[in-house]
Parts: sequence; structure tokens; C-alpha cells
Amino acid sequence: MTQPRFFIPPEWIREQGVTLSGEIAHQICSVLRLRPGERIVVLDNTGWECEVELQRVSQGNVIGRVIEERPATGEPRTRIVLYQAALRARRFEFVLQKGTELGIAEFVPIVCERSLVAEVSELDAKRERWQHIIREAAEQSHRGRLPVLRTAMMFALACQEAVAIGTCAWILSEHERHTHLKQALAHVKSNERKLPVAFSLFVGPEGGFTADEIYLATQYGIQPVGLGPRILRAETAGLVAASAILYEMEA
Ligand code: SAH
Repeated sequence: MTQPRFFIPPEWIREQGVTLSGEIAHQICSVLRLRPGERIVVLDNTGWECEVELQRVSQGNVIGRVIEERPATGEPRTRIVLYQAALRARRFEFVLQKGTELGIAEFVPIVCERSLVAEVSELDAKRERWQHIIREAAEQSHRGRLPVLRTAMMFALACQEAVAIGTCAWILSEHERHTHLKQALAHVKSNERKLPVAFSLFVGPEGGFTADEIYLATQYGIQPVGLGPRILRAETAGLVAASAILYEMEA
């Protein structure tokens, strides 16, 4: 069994000692029932991880000794920011969990013309739960860093932000027949000189982006990209594009 991994606040690590409390101590003591002598991995979300040997395990308090400190692995070189239109909670949570496993670095919920009021209202209400889902998925999938869940943004503001220097910004559109993801990626890889290390991906709501939104995105230099003739659900499209990009760029 691989060693259990926990993202913890950096201040819980002091020199060679680690003190764990709260929910994590409970999980170690009562759920995983780990005993002194056994090992866990703790990550401080700065890109490092520590292998820790447990010394004292009790319900609310666990003490360990750092055996080894090493760079955290599990992070792709390619940074993907997913601007995902609000969805019903369960579907949005699916994107957060699978996107974390895939290696997405940042999730930005966006509000589009066809976003439903119910979906938008859930964006802030569910924030804490969603951060927990990301943390669990990041620990389970051996991510080296916690993906960031940003606060919800209006579509236009997201367009402005997404075209930062050195970022490849694409808006996924089922109406785009000219540029397929395959061509867009081939083009990126062709100019070796400046391989982007960051991709911004826009995925629309259940009802899709409006023509005005697609037009506005192109005004910002965000390129419409198609994923083929089939209409994918909103929670499918971003994951498909992200995995194709990581496959192409990390391979
Ligand atoms: N307008 C569609 C629903 C949109 S699907 C319909 O008539 O049912 C939700 C989002 O997924 C879209 O806004 C788009 O961002 C993405 N998407 C779905 N299928 C796609 C495809 N074949 N190519 C590119 N993006 C797609």
C-alpha cells in the first residue's frame, strides 16, 4: 500500500518534527489506524514533500519525525487553467475531482449568459466542500501541489485574465469546424522556440456559449477550438481537452 499522503499547513512542520491535529489526526488514528513506526508523506504545498515516521498516535494529536525531505513529484510541467462555466453541483464536483487527478492546476468557475441562477448561487455556497474534494483527489492521485479553486468570475473578466503572456488560450466550441484540438496542438508544438507552459481552457454551460461570447473571446485573442463532431457534456469537454494537451505536451 502506498504511504498515506496529507497536505498540511507548513507551520505543522518544525525542523525535523511534525505535529498533526484535527481531522488529519483523526484519520491517521481512527480511520487508517496507523501506529508508531509506520510512515506517512506530508506535503506543505510549496512543492516539497516529507516522509514522516509516526512516533505518537492519539485521537486528536499525532507526532512524527521527518525521515526525508524531497521535491514533490506528480506535477505536470504544463500548467492548465480551466475556466469552467457553472454547472449543477454534482457535475461541477466531477470536473474538480477528475481535473485534479489529470493534473489541472487551477479551476475558475465562470458565469456565462446561459448559466442558470441555481448553478451560480451554488458556486460560493459549495466552496468549502469543493476545496475538500480537490484536496482528497490531490492526495489520492499523488499531486505535488493542491490545485487552486478560484472564486467565480464573469465571462468577460475571465477572457481578459486568460490571455496573459505566454498562455495559450482556447475556447472550446462545438460549432468550431475549422480548428480542431489536434491542429491547435500541432501548431503549438511546431514553434518549438516558445512552447507555452500554460493553457487556458474555456468550457461553456449546458446551453453552450452564445455567439456573442465566442466573438468576445476572439476579440481577446482566445482561439475557438473544436473537439470533433459529437456534442460532449460540459463536464466531459474540459477533461477531454486537458488530457489531450497533457498527453501531447508531457509525452
Ligand atoms: N450547445 C450544446 C451544448 C453545449 S456543451 C448543445 O446544443 O447541446 C457544453 C460545452 O462543452 C460547450 O460550451 C463547449 O465548451 C464544450 N463542448 C461540447 N462539445 C464540444 C465539441 N464537440 N467541441 C468543442 N467543445 C465542445
